[in-house]
Amino acid sequence: MAMLSSSFYKKKKLNSALSALNGFKEFSVALGMGAEGAEQLAKEIRGLVGPSVDDLRIRRLVVRATQIHDSLESIQRFRGELRAFFSQLKIALVVVDFQNDFVSGSLSIKNGPAGEDPRDAIPALNDLLREGAADIVVYTLDWHPANHISFYEHCRNGDRRLSEEDKSRKLKPFDAVRFADPGCAQVLYPTHCVQGSWGANLDPLVHIVKDAHFIRKGQKVHVDSYSAFQDNEREQKTSLENLLREKGVDAVIGCGLAYDICVAATLKDSADLGFFTSVVADASKGLDNDRISETNNEFKEKKIAVLSTGEAISALRKDIMPIEWIEKRVTELLQD
Ligand SMILES: [Zn+2]
Repeated sequence: MAMLSSSFYKKKKLNSALSALNGFKEFSVALGMGAEGAEQLAKEIRGLVGPSVDDLRIRRLVVRATQIHDSLESIQRFRGELRAFFSQLKIALVVVDFQNDFVSGSLSIKNGPAGEDPRDAIPALNDLLREGAADIVVYTLDWHPANHISFYEHCRNGDRRLSEEDKSRKLKPFDAVRFADPGCAQVLYPTHCVQGSWGANLDPLVHIVKDAHFIRKGQKVHVDSYSAFQDNEREQKTSLENLLREKGVDAVIGCGLAYDICVAATLKDSADLGFFTSVVADASKGLDNDRISETNNEFKEKKIAVLSTGEAISALRKDIMPIEWIEKRVTELLQD
């Protein structure tokens, strides 16, 4: 009797899964190797991602895995690989450009159209930093020479030439221009983060972790650098990637300023370089609402998980992992 009712419920559950999945064929393949392995794998993934993730998203992963691992033994081996990988994951916490000029100085984000105040992100940021669970902590610094190409005040200097169109119009800060020499598109910002100046220092309220690493960017006069990995022309890399590779880092959790500019560029590069990547939304502040939502779309496309500070701390402790990371790892394991 008990057997009957259990199989009845199993059938009912599977039927609803089938209709919900909208992929009858895929799911029937999964069932071909027996529901037991699939159930075990679903449980394993549920344990990795915690209770907030949608059931369907987990089932989709299970279906993909069981199409290749079609015996109970093989699926159990797959489960083991998944679990071992995430228990040994090395995670870097990358704090992007939390510098005086962006917080309260010449390029203060709170004066931007989104009206977000970087100071409001500092308690969350310090919770992350004080947690001490990251394998390595990196602070990035926008670090410009005094006549940097991004500075509005210097856009007509003799060592650079605006395009004819931009040369003849009245320019103001935050205008997007094109330089004919050097050939590049550039947004003109008020002078900010000049090497060695007060504005280039980290905000004094930001907790500095012992043994942290500092990566400076935008140091060459004629090229800007939004990403902490490389300049905007993608010509020269900073030492960040090498540092992360040397330390055996698999995953990057990033946050800071500005969400829609330097945090976005840094984390998109991180994902493109193959790191498991997440952003901590409440430990970051952005400049412009339209660009913030554009950034969120790009993050989604690149499987960059958008986390709260609490979720990021869980990931750093390796208690709960972002589903996007599990999806990426499952894909990698299935391709091997
Ligand atoms: Zn800059």
